[in-house]
Amino acid sequence: MRIILLGPPGAGKGTQAKNLSEILKIVHISTGDILREEVKNNTALGQQAKKYIDAGGLVPDDLVIQMLKTWLGRKDGFILDGFPRNLNQAQALDKLLDEAGNKIDAVFYLDASEAVIIGRLSGRRICSQCQAIYHIQNMPPKIEGICDKCQGRLYQRSDDQEETIKRRLEVYLKETATLIDYYKRQGKLYYINADRQAEGVIEDILKITKNFS
Ligand code: AMP
Repeated sequence: MRIILLGPPGAGKGTQAKNLSEILKIVHISTGDILREEVKNNTALGQQAKKYIDAGGLVPDDLVIQMLKTWLGRKDGFILDGFPRNLNQAQALDKLLDEAGNKIDAVFYLDASEAVIIGRLSGRRICSQCQAIYHIQNMPPKIEGICDKCQGRLYQRSDDQEETIKRRLEVYLKETATLIDYYKRQGKLYYINADRQAEGVIEDILKITKNFS
């Protein structure tokens, strides 16, 4: 099964993708996580990507598409989170899959309101080791600042600061929201209300994925 999670930053794509990946036993590919790892390891790609990430903009398409190529051939499927981010990336993805005789089965559009998004992003904390996602109010860890799963230290993403959140939302509306129509036209788009707790959201997604397994 090949799935895309689409939606604004803070819609819950990362949380849903991690849980879906465990339940459906398919790999979770988060371009944001991969890029942050590259930045952390100070690789050539990480050095190029950092300035775009810190400014809340998009990393150039050719860098991201190149980075993704090796992951996409996986026969057992994947959940894409944070990719594609614009029309050019969506078309490149379709082309790469088509060349390999594969296709996207479903695109889940996680729709969340701006107030919910800002609340989620400003309180979000990430595990520096296993990338588990927490929220200081909605989903706090048992011990403050420490991951329940691996005891790694929690941190706040540098782009989860108020000014950068605003910029990321602008970029989403300008670049990524057009993909809703792109996938609607392909008959692959499923609308999911993501203003709710994570449990209700995943339940709705799983009802639909049953048709593809
Ligand atoms: P995310 O973790 O998906 O919110 O991504 C964090 C940041 O990584 C974004 O604001 C972009 O700077 C960069 N990024 C992640 N995925 C992509 C992508 N598909 N294309 C371009 N930039 C990306």
